[in-house]
Amino acid sequence: NSRSDCPPDVEALGRGTWTLLHSIAASYPESPSKSQQSDLLSFVKLFSKLYPCWVCAEDFTTYMGREVPRVGSRDEFGKWLCGAHNDVNRKLGKPQFDCSRWQERWRTGWNDGRCD
Ligand code: FAD
Repeated sequence: NSRSDCPPDVEALGRGTWTLLHSIAASYPESPSKSQQSDLLSFVKLFSKLYPCWVCAEDFTTYMGREVPRVGSRDEFGKWLCGAHNDVNRKLGKPQFDCSRWQERWRTGWNDGRCD
């Protein structure tokens, strides 16, 4: 039977969470207001406290100390988040993602049209 109706393990939780986080970046304004910027910053900080994989949350908090979240525009936040995801990829021995293409993956679809 499928594992998709069982409690999520670290992998399933991670995949679902990255989808949400990158999608939040994709829908974030290009020119956010001060209050949109402070909402996003609060969200990211609370997220790092509440994420229900404690080692993951601890390392994510350490990353935020090294690389302060950048919420000044959609592309700035998307690239910051891509860097955070790459930091986890590095730790897990997964390939690095080319952050210049984050919008193709999460917002517009790939330039070769394969998501059209
Ligand atoms: P995922 O890493 O889940 O990625 C999903 C998709 O995102 C990929 O298929 C790719 O298309 C795209 N993608 C990949 N890299 C990037 C990027 N840099 N930018 C944009 N898009 C990208 N797991 C652990 O075992 N230990 C941990 O400490 C840990 N920490 C985590 C911390 C956080 C904040 C989160 C959200 C998850 C963490 N995980 C951790 C889970 C881990 O990152 C993966 O989600 C999980 O291993 C499943 O990996 P996956 O290969 O399916 O792809």
